[in-house]
Amino acid sequence: MPAPGARRLSLVEPWSGNNCHQTNQQNRPPPTPWSGDATEFFKDYRNLHDINRFMAQLAQENPRFVVLREIGRSWEGRPLQVLEITDHHSGNVADKPCIFLEGGIHAREWIAPAAVLYIAGALVRESSSAEVQKYLQDFVFTLLIPVNPDGYVYSWEVNRMWRKTRSNRTDYLCHGHVAGVDANRNWGLTFGVTNDAYYDQQLHSPCTQVFIGPSAFSEPETQAASGYLQKRQQSSLHASKDGKMGPGHIAAFIDYHSYAQAMLPPWAVTGKTPTNPDGAYQTAMTSAVNAAFQQSSGRTFRTGADVFPPDPGTGPDWAFGHLGIRATMTVELEGRSFCLPSNQIEFVGSEQWAGVKALAGFLTVQGSQPSSSFGIFADRATNRGSATISELLGSEVHPKPSAIGSSTSFSQLAALDAQGGQRGQEALSTTASPGGGLPSFVVVLLILGAIMLMAPIAIFWFGREKRKPYVRDASQIGETAHVELE
Ligand SMILES: [Zn+2]
Repeated sequence: MPAPGARRLSLVEPWSGNNCHQTNQQNRPPPTPWSGDATEFFKDYRNLHDINRFMAQLAQENPRFVVLREIGRSWEGRPLQVLEITDHHSGNVADKPCIFLEGGIHAREWIAPAAVLYIAGALVRESSSAEVQKYLQDFVFTLLIPVNPDGYVYSWEVNRMWRKTRSNRTDYLCHGHVAGVDANRNWGLTFGVTNDAYYDQQLHSPCTQVFIGPSAFSEPETQAASGYLQKRQQSSLHASKDGKMGPGHIAAFIDYHSYAQAMLPPWAVTGKTPTNPDGAYQTAMTSAVNAAFQQSSGRTFRTGADVFPPDPGTGPDWAFGHLGIRATMTVELEGRSFCLPSNQIEFVGSEQWAGVKALAGFLTVQGSQPSSSFGIFADRATNRGSATISELLGSEVHPKPSAIGSSTSFSQLAALDAQGGQRGQEALSTTASPGGGLPSFVVVLLILGAIMLMAPIAIFWFGREKRKPYVRDASQIGETAHVELE
């Protein structure tokens, strides 16, 4: 049962720029700039300029705990910044296990970077509590906000429903316009791996919401994030001896999205839980975090690798399969809209902060040593040869050339049944590429999609009084984004 007052719904949005039905952000009124008062920051969504101000101020005012670092540049040249939050008076940052949190890889999911920023503020604000003090001594929290600043700016200034990066390679335009890349299909290891012919076509069409890009890590944003993770993990590996990892490894990697109210540990590529002990560890992790969510917000999240249909090239799959990070998952915030009203930010933020404390507690008790089955530590320990993805996932899977030759051994994945089904509802939410005959099930899905498109109009026409506050109709701009994509 939800805690009293847990749902604080309001349809009144003070600033109309956060509106999924608004097709042109250039026509919206300008947002109210952040005053610079930290207690005011989470009362509204903030543009990139104010996010950067908040991060700089947090670092400047709390030098004992916060360092702001640039780890790369976006396609359009914006700095990709992380906050490294730890007790700098206690131990060396490079030697502490790292809890890496990122939000905003998908531009339109504004609550994701807002929630991660909330966690940053809370780490500092509660740094004197016994629990948080210990976590700040034991871990470094690295927070990348937002992962996709170009897309974020575009979602503020032009198209509220923009999801991808803003890369505009001449060979990969969408009808002459910027195509961008789905940065959460752009990671290595399982890049482009699917056994669904229709989805495969979607993944390689620049106009779709799930365009994977020309090659794994083609996007500077995924290069920067993976580079940070890889550097730490490699350095821990190089310092390992007698079967024990060296200092400074990645203890956890969490990628925040919206909206599905779910926790998705690996494998996204198959929708199947890894074999034990890793699978059991990940299930215990989501249970611990869910318990904290329930205590904070009165609600629980759906959990499991199978909550969404199979998806290739996601960050958590790479983090687990290539780096061996066991505590890794996608967290899907809220379950109603990409345009969550701004008066929900603090509610979601405090819920997620409770989850992060539970995660740190889980790592403290259960340990955070890398997988002994997958990733670079397992490779070192067993000296196994690499296998191609197609061998591992079965002959029904048709990987793209750039997905092959990954350095990670993947033998246990062979045991997983990769005979994934059709993508069902998610197929509706990507834009079909022009040309080519459509399979019959696609035609059925398109008809269903048309019915879904008509539904909001029918509801509006026949019953204004009964209209639901959150119709899952994300856009009128040629992108039929009814449901969240991982
Ligand atoms: Zn997303």
